[in-house]
Amino acid sequence: MIEIKNVHKSFGPLEVLKGVDLTVEKGEVVSVIGGSGSGKSTLLTCINGLEPINSGKILVDGTEVHAKSTDLNKLRRKIGIVFQQFNAFPHLTVLENVTLAPRKVLGMAKGEAEAIAVKQLNHVGLGDKLKVYPGRLSGGQQQRMAIARALAMNPAYMLFDEVTSALDPQLVGEVLDTLKLLADEGMTMICVTHEMGFARDVSNRVAFFHKGILAEVAAPKEFFGAPQHPETQKFLASVR
Ligand code: ADP
Ligand code: MG
Repeated sequence: MIEIKNVHKSFGPLEVLKGVDLTVEKGEVVSVIGGSGSGKSTLLTCINGLEPINSGKILVDGTEVHAKSTDLNKLRRKIGIVFQQFNAFPHLTVLENVTLAPRKVLGMAKGEAEAIAVKQLNHVGLGDKLKVYPGRLSGGQQQRMAIARALAMNPAYMLFDEVTSALDPQLVGEVLDTLKLLADEGMTMICVTHEMGFARDVSNRVAFFHKGILAEVAAPKEFFGAPQHPETQKFLASVR
């Protein structure tokens, strides 16, 4: 599981995380919502150790992410992360993009890495795009490729940072369907999202970020049906 305990994080004078607490159990899907600049992306990058924290603790399966003794490269293999901004290697085919990390990071043989990549590309519905270059894919297909690339490392956790926000509206559904598929398969996921339908229908809990803290964390039924915090109410009114 992922345990976030009283985490504080500043960028210079700007305190972005002001005591964040959240525990995500194995198999749980937590959607994180909140206004722009509220610290959602920062939280994700702290979870996989891309950013240091100022105080508090983040534990992944009991390993403290920011402890000096922690092997961050090893820990990160457990945590797949997919961003809003797609970043494929344009000169490599879809298959080569997905085999790259298993080969370079895990030292897998070409054949083994390709078998895993093909499996994960089929999984996200891109089994017919193996030899295509990323530039020929639609935005939705590119994001699904990014998800396959993360899955090829066999992570225990997946973090998604607004993976549908840059997409044309008609492409959002295919990516959300892929996230739902992973959720149904039992993947443990933290999804920063603006898709309220997804947050309501797919997540086990919804967390609302406001001014550096998780102001409200609740099951979707309570969260959307009877939000307790005035800022949650305001936010939900603004997105409805
Ligand atoms: P969100 O994802 O909720 O939109 P972010 O976590 O990206 O918010 O950013 C929270 C705040 O931290 C913003 O004010 C942003 O400008 C600031 N911030 C994010 N990353 C950095 C950075 N690397 N250096 C300085 N400030 C940053
Ligand atoms: Mg963000």
